[in-house]
Order: sequence, then C-alpha cells, then structure tokens
Amino acid sequence: MADHNFSIEFFPPKTAEGTEKLRATRAKLAELHPKYFSVTFGAGGTTQRGTLETVLDIMGAGEEAAPHLSCVGGTRESIRAILDEYKSHGIKRVVALRGDLPSGYGAAGEFRYANELVEFIRAETGDWFHIEVAAYPEVHPQAKSPQSDMDAFVRKVNAGADAAITQYFYNADAYFQFVDAAQKAGVNVPIVAGIMPITNYTQLMRFSDMCGAEIPRWVRLKLASFGDDTASIKAFGLDVVTALCERLLAGGAPGLHFYSMNQVAPTTALWQRLVK
Ligand code: FAD
Repeated sequence: MADHNFSIEFFPPKTAEGTEKLRATRAKLAELHPKYFSVTFGAGGTTQRGTLETVLDIMGAGEEAAPHLSCVGGTRESIRAILDEYKSHGIKRVVALRGDLPSGYGAAGEFRYANELVEFIRAETGDWFHIEVAAYPEVHPQAKSPQSDMDAFVRKVNAGADAAITQYFYNADAYFQFVDAAQKAGVNVPIVAGIMPITNYTQLMRFSDMCGAEIPRWVRLKLASFGDDTASIKAFGLDVVTALCERLLAGGAPGLHFYSMNQVAPTTALWQRLVK
C-alpha cells in the first residue's frame, strides 16, 4: 500500500467545536500516513474561507493539504485572488472543479466547465500547482451521453491536469472500463478511485441519488433489511467496500481517495483491512 497514492477528504467544519473535532480526527488519520488531505469548497461562497482555514490548519500540523476549488459562480478576478492567496501560503496542490451552484443562487459566473478553470490556473500560475480533476466512472448526472462526458474529461486533462479522482462507485467494472476508455483516448495521468465508506443507509441513498452513484441492488436491499441496526450496516458496509478496494488495487488502480465525512473510524477500519 505504501507505493499507492492514498488521500483523505474532509469538508470544512462550520463551528468552533467542529474545528476542534476535525483537528483530533486529522491527528488520528495522519497515523495512516496519507499522501495528503483534501478539503472541499462550497460553490457560491458558503464555505470558502473555511476551506483555506482548514487547509492551513492541516499544513500547520506538518501534513500536506489540497484545497478544492470550484469555479461556477466565480469570475476571473475572484478565482485569481484565491489562487494568489493559496500561492502566498505555499499551497502546491488543488482539486479543480466546476462545482454546483446552490439552488436559488443566480449568476453562473465566467467559467462554464472545469476545463476552463484548469486552463486558467495553468495560464495564471504555470506549473506551481499539482492539479487534480474529477472523473465519473458511472457518468456525471448532467452529461449528454457517456461519450460526451469522456470527451469533457479528456479536455480537462489536456488543459493541464496532473491526476484525477473519481466520484465514488461500488461497481469496480465501471472504474476499469472508464480507465481503459480514458487511456485509449490518450489520457495517461493517474485516475485515483474515490471511496465512500458505507456507514449509514439513508445518507448513502440521498448522496448517491444526487451524484449519480449506483448502489447495486443486492447491497441496497441488504442494507435496507438491517433497519436501525447500525452495527450490522457498518459491518456489512466494511466487507463490501474492502472487497471493492482490494479489487481496484489488484486491478491496477494507482491509489484510493477516501471520502472520510470527517470521521475517523470508517477510513481507519478500511485501511486496517487493506494493509493486512
Ligand atoms: P465538469 O468537468 O465541468 O463537468 C460537468 C458536466 O458538464 C458534466 O456533465 C460534463 O459532461 C459536462 N460538460 C463538460 N464540458 C462540457 C461542454 N463543453 N459542453 C457540454 N457539456 C460539458 N463540488 C463542490 O462544490 N465542491 C467540492 O469541493 C467538490 N469536490 C469534489 C471532489 C471530487 C473528487 C468529485 C468527483 C466531485 C466533487 N465535487 C465538488 C462535485 C462536482 O463539483 C460536481 O460533480 C459538478 O457537478 C461537476 O464538477 P466537474 O468539475 O466534474 O465539472
């Protein structure tokens, strides 16, 4: 596992108590020696300061950190100001996204798609940043077709991305197919698999509906059958996701990016199973 690209994602806490809790979470997860921690960014301004503050907190503890940066709703000037600020703090890595505007938020801004953001980051800052972009093995929910989504992915990479992280999925074949098609289209950057631990049935179903991740029927039915028995949901979820990660790594995935949901236990439990 040491030779793999292993990273952990947080979202910025909203309260002082959440900040303290995340510090403790990060300290525990740092014991797993991830390559870096990434911190999400709310399109439309909601959590943008929180992203930088959380990244600086992680860097202050001696760990590598990458802010996410979404461009929807932004202007050239506002994104330039964020990039300058990131640079001034010595931040060397960003996850570049289009993002989704919260409903009711009016202006779309000056960037339409993530490839325009990647192009802008490269034009403004040269090779300063290591840029990660998003990939969708099960197809982005707004894509016109699987092929147009692949074309959009290739455009983002060709605009100057160094690597990609996928949306989460529970079907390894979707990932392998995606990587194969991307490579045939000339992509040769690492495509790291995004991993969502399974700990809560209702939350998982809600997220998956929004982001277009498919929960296989047998997994969904088994999870539903456990009802309020959270111990059984977690135990079964751990088995399913461990098997997925093992298959991905054995099949050549260059690394795993864990959507930690700011929790210690799910990522740690998975990690311990994988290093055995
Ligand atoms: P794009 O690559 O721009 O694609 C968006 C859609 O537009 C796709 O359907 C694509 O097929 C289509 N498209 C692209 N180019 C064109 C074109 N020229 N013409 C027509 N259609 C086109 N969201 C946040 O708000 N904050 C975060 O921190 C965040 N972190 C994320 C991290 C990861 C690893 C992932 C996988 C997602 C994350 N997201 C985050 C969610 C992401 O912002 C959404 O999935 C968003 O809807 C798409 O962003 P993108 O960068 O993939 O967009």
